Amino acid sequence: MVSGTMSGVQIPTTIPNQIGGRTAPASDGRTFLKRDPATGAALCQVARSSAADVRLAVELAKKAQPDWAAATVVKRGDILRQIALLMRERRELIADLVARETGKSRKDALGETDAAIEMGFFVAGEGRRFYGQTTTSAVPNKSAMVIRQPLGVAGLIIAANTPIANVAWKAFPALLCGNAAILKASEDTPLSAWIFGEIAREAGVPEGVYSTIHGFGEEAGAPLVEHPDVAVVSFTGSCSVGRWIAATVGQRLGKVCLELGGKNPLIVCDDADLQNAVTWTLGSAFSNAGQRCASGSRIIVFDAVYDRFTQMLVEATTKLAVGTSDADAYGPVINEEQMTAMLASVQQAKDAGAVILTGGHRLTGGAYGDGYFVAPTILAHVGPNDEISRTELFGPITCLYRVKNFEEAITLANDAPFGLTASIHTQNLHRAMTFVGRIQSGVAVVNGGTYGSEPHMPFGGLKDSGNGWREAGTQALDVYSDLKTVYINHNPLSV
Ligand code: NAD
Repeated sequence: MVSGTMSGVQIPTTIPNQIGGRTAPASDGRTFLKRDPATGAALCQVARSSAADVRLAVELAKKAQPDWAAATVVKRGDILRQIALLMRERRELIADLVARETGKSRKDALGETDAAIEMGFFVAGEGRRFYGQTTTSAVPNKSAMVIRQPLGVAGLIIAANTPIANVAWKAFPALLCGNAAILKASEDTPLSAWIFGEIAREAGVPEGVYSTIHGFGEEAGAPLVEHPDVAVVSFTGSCSVGRWIAATVGQRLGKVCLELGGKNPLIVCDDADLQNAVTWTLGSAFSNAGQRCASGSRIIVFDAVYDRFTQMLVEATTKLAVGTSDADAYGPVINEEQMTAMLASVQQAKDAGAVILTGGHRLTGGAYGDGYFVAPTILAHVGPNDEISRTELFGPITCLYRVKNFEEAITLANDAPFGLTASIHTQNLHRAMTFVGRIQSGVAVVNGGTYGSEPHMPFGGLKDSGNGWREAGTQALDVYSDLKTVYINHNPLSV
């Protein structure tokens, strides 16, 4: 069990909610067990919240929000900067918690923690900009401008894959814009959400302005989505839940930001630097155990280099070490249910004629124990309309496709329900730029991976990957604020 003191901070054996500046168990006292994905052993108990807890958090958020909104945005930015500074002071502890709850290596957990901190600094700096617009008027002595205004209470619901970064991407911009925010943590990653809540309180976020609720999607997430006083729901997760959220919040004309799945293509052209393409394919397909919305799950390779590239890729893949140490390429997947589902999909593809070039099974024995480790898996002889080509597996599993030329590659790349990220490997500038122009995705990369976003750059996707909003970058402020058009008339004769 994770408990006791870590880096001078007492970790509770039961992770509580943080509502209205106080920690509290779920109102009906229920808890659930969170397991360590690397061992399958019990890690901690967690508050199992329900609608009553959500109602209390919304009520307190509504009360606290006007004063928070009345503070200057520079002041709010200062408090967010203080969160980022405290996070930086405790980066080792935060990374430890992320590593424990996800099973990823400390190195990867530290990288993710640093990215979350950087997001805090970036958003805090926006407090000194927070640009609106000033423009002209057709009428003399009339000024016209556009300013931002908060929405009210924001409901933030996140996935478990990069937990502290997922909190940061939503909490910082939601708060900067003057909203009160309630985060429904992923049931798989309660620890990072809890420590963020503690730090936010310590940094001076007023009571009620930021709350964290733990629990399952239908029990604790749905009441937040359904609450009439939640003005904006920002959701990162699966497409099916996203559709339900859009319909539910849309019914009351609320705002919804959806960051959903991907089935991201990486194209390897006949003129690619194959070694570089292999390196980025490994990272795209397998880093973070493939638990990335931006993971490269469709590797589209020109016929002319298909055999050589495949041989190089399979060879490099079989050398990947899987485990929880810093030397390992990736760790376990987040829970047993997801592991079982992804392995069943691989089996189904095999039954339908796919060839497993490597992997396709759980890693067991020795240090793997009862952990949820999946071997890096590559499939070939997969059709573009096969189930495995069209559904996201969210695991260390990728498929190879053979194409004749650029035209076939781009057509296949675009033939997917999702449109999140995409990458091409080529030395040809004209090909690269044509790819950038024609690929149907929110992110396009040349000679790199399908993942790797930066805090000042917008991230999001087309088609089933989202509903048009972007996270990160200054564009994130558009999710959490509305506009106010202001006209000011003055009379120079009254001076
Ligand atoms: P999920 O949809 O099952 O769960 C995500 C979150 O939603 C969890 O906190 C869960 O408790 C909550 N939830 C579930 N049902 C709910 C409901 N009815 N009402 C309210 N909340 C509910 O997704 P997952 O399997 O945990 O996460 C993986 C998915 O997240 C993948 O599809 C992945 O691509 C996506 N993702 C997208 C991005 C992005 O930025 N586009 C980033 C990371 C992950």
